Amino acid sequence: SSMGEQVIYMNGGFVKKEDAKVSVYDHGFLYGDGVFEGIRSYNGNVFRLEEHLERLYDSAKSVMLNIPYTFEEMTDLIVQTLRRNELKNAYIRLVVSRGVGNLGLDPFSCKEPNVIIIAEALAMYPQALYESGIEIASVATRRSRADVLSPKVKSLNYMNNILVKIEANLAGVSEALMMNEQGYVAEGSADNIFIIRNQKILTPPGYVGALEGITRNAIIDLANQKGYDIQEGVFTRHDVYTADEVFLTGTAVEVISVVKVDGRVIGDGKPGPVTNDLLSAFRELVEQDGVKVYDEQLKAI
Ligand code: PMP
Repeated sequence: SSMGEQVIYMNGGFVKKEDAKVSVYDHGFLYGDGVFEGIRSYNGNVFRLEEHLERLYDSAKSVMLNIPYTFEEMTDLIVQTLRRNELKNAYIRLVVSRGVGNLGLDPFSCKEPNVIIIAEALAMYPQALYESGIEIASVATRRSRADVLSPKVKSLNYMNNILVKIEANLAGVSEALMMNEQGYVAEGSADNIFIIRNQKILTPPGYVGALEGITRNAIIDLANQKGYDIQEGVFTRHDVYTADEVFLTGTAVEVISVVKVDGRVIGDGKPGPVTNDLLSAFRELVEQDGVKVYDEQLKAI
């Protein structure tokens, strides 16, 4: 890795990128059977790693997938992956698939899961997007119902999200506004949504149907600390159209302003003051918070 060669963690060891391959009989490939996380490291600090691992292990438990490592071992493996790749600012993709089985659906035919950790230098969103804000469009495809495919499970089956991304792209925008089956606003294709009206900040509660975003929860904490009135609340497209400010949150995008929704201009068409305030607070937080990858005290396996 000192020669700049990327290594990927796979089932107990590190392999070169070109050797990091899984079988076509892996049920992650055949059926989208598995779970994953997208995590970020800022300047050698892994942001909210414990929350990400909690969500991963909860997702795995929900689908009866046994992750063969303890929480602590997984933490060490992520630290080790960053160290081996000499990365400080990174995007980390942690994947646990059901593993190799036969062609049948039965997950119990799979003997052991594949555990993969990919860490790469982060492809940042251009700063211009944060300054201009983005445009989104609502899509016909609904967020999967909790009793069909729970949005709380971060599974490898992202077809629901992919279909809305296609719709958004066909509508000429980069991100989608996804409703649940009742028409209440749920989330974006891979980000949570917040609206602001008369200084009140709202984000949909979990039961509307959204992934419980780590960034979302960090923003709720920050907004509370800063004395904003922030609450979980159910709302419709109308409330989005008539909001003073709208923003999306996610690990990759952090906090991004939305300035147009289905052709309706939000506020004065520029990122608003509350959004900007929360984005800067978030960028301050990520520099201090998190698991310190290069702390000598941290044991490496
Ligand atoms: N919703 C979905 C469907 C997602 O895939 C993501 C990205 N993990 C998010 C929301 C945002 O969550 P987080 O802030 O944890 O990245």
